Amino acid sequence: MKNQPLITVGMMDRQTEVTGSLNGNFRGDGSEPVSGRFSAKAEGGMIVLTDEAFRETARSPSIRLTARQGSTFSLFNVLIGVGFHWERREDQTFQGNLIFQIRRDGMMTVINEISLEDYLTSVISSEMSADAPMEFLKAHAILSRSWLLSGFRQKEKKAETPVRTEKLGTGEIIRWYDREDHDLFDVCADDHCQRYQGITKIVADRVKQAVQETHGRVITFRDEICDARYSKCCGGLTENFDTAWENKRIPYLASISDASGPHQPIETEEEASAWILSDPKAYCRTKDEGLLEKILPGFDRETKNFFRWTVEYSREELEGILREKSGFDFGRLKEIIPLRRGPSGRISRLKIVGSKRSVIVGKELEIRRWLSPSHLYSSAFLVSAQHPPCEENERFIFQGAGWGHGVGLCQIGAAVMATQRFLAEEILKHYFLGVEIKKIY
Ligand SMILES: [Zn+2]
Ligand SMILES: [Zn+2]
Repeated sequence: MKNQPLITVGMMDRQTEVTGSLNGNFRGDGSEPVSGRFSAKAEGGMIVLTDEAFRETARSPSIRLTARQGSTFSLFNVLIGVGFHWERREDQTFQGNLIFQIRRDGMMTVINEISLEDYLTSVISSEMSADAPMEFLKAHAILSRSWLLSGFRQKEKKAETPVRTEKLGTGEIIRWYDREDHDLFDVCADDHCQRYQGITKIVADRVKQAVQETHGRVITFRDEICDARYSKCCGGLTENFDTAWENKRIPYLASISDASGPHQPIETEEEASAWILSDPKAYCRTKDEGLLEKILPGFDRETKNFFRWTVEYSREELEGILREKSGFDFGRLKEIIPLRRGPSGRISRLKIVGSKRSVIVGKELEIRRWLSPSHLYSSAFLVSAQHPPCEENERFIFQGAGWGHGVGLCQIGAAVMATQRFLAEEILKHYFLGVEIKKIY
């Protein structure tokens, strides 16, 4: 790869009308440059572009406006945080080119075409605080770049492999959710891919520096760009790829001890219990609020106990959650039995036994969805049921370790490593086994 690639980001999808402004000159299909306020409407299989005087400037199923040097564009009323409690609309400003595309159903998609490095600078500044340790920001820049580029490559050779798979047997539901492809663009602008707010938020110099200093650098394994995964906190041991997703081994996404010394992988229930109930040394075992504030976005900071945690439900409460989240009525909930765990203690097959039915559920994300009104922190947990003589007081107690799927880089551990003077490359090589960091453009 000689030059950095361009990436297409789906800004707004399935719209009938979009308004905004071109700040500076853009080149359309005509010879005249266009600028100023605009409106784009989907009308009878065409996109009709009008300027601020409501004059039609273009009409086509696909319109491309190429930015001249230094020009930006703004989109008005962009919906962000879709489906989350912070969902709202705001005006956003972007660098790069603006593309309108008609979908088969006659609706319109708005796409921003931008260089990969500019895109990275933007997503890293909206996802993390600019005060995060520099080597952590650099490690994250290399990781996000690798993840994106490996996605492009997978797309080229994919087609036949399902990204979201379900195996429905008798009383067994094993699901995982992998990257879902978008049809008209590479990534969307929401949390589904990576939150992208263009240059709306002031991009901090330190984030720019982290991206620039790692320009074109990616994580590779046997000369292939790595599908670099990450989660919030591994809990002291990272997890194997196949505990969370497809049944295949990815050598660089294998369990490691997130500490300076080794630790045996968890194999038995006794080992899981001893591990989860212990308070082992690990990079991600930190209560340093100052540091957490620098790496976690605001809405995540409410979670304080993520390294080891406890969640308790009354039996009725858990039955209600299960009914709603799984769609099954288990009747009177009797037992919750881990059937298979990965090396970090995360459960990938769990048996839920009720008076009306028993179901085996997996993998880790589906388990976490079923057992909480939102998501349980992780599937590395022990369940104990308290059955006192009086039935009304029955309780289920979950004691767990870590936050997220635990595969690949542990963000909190990586940030702590950066404060202990580890370099970005050392941090990445700690989490991704046997990899090299290479500059590919
Ligand atoms: Zn997406
Ligand atoms: Zn960790």
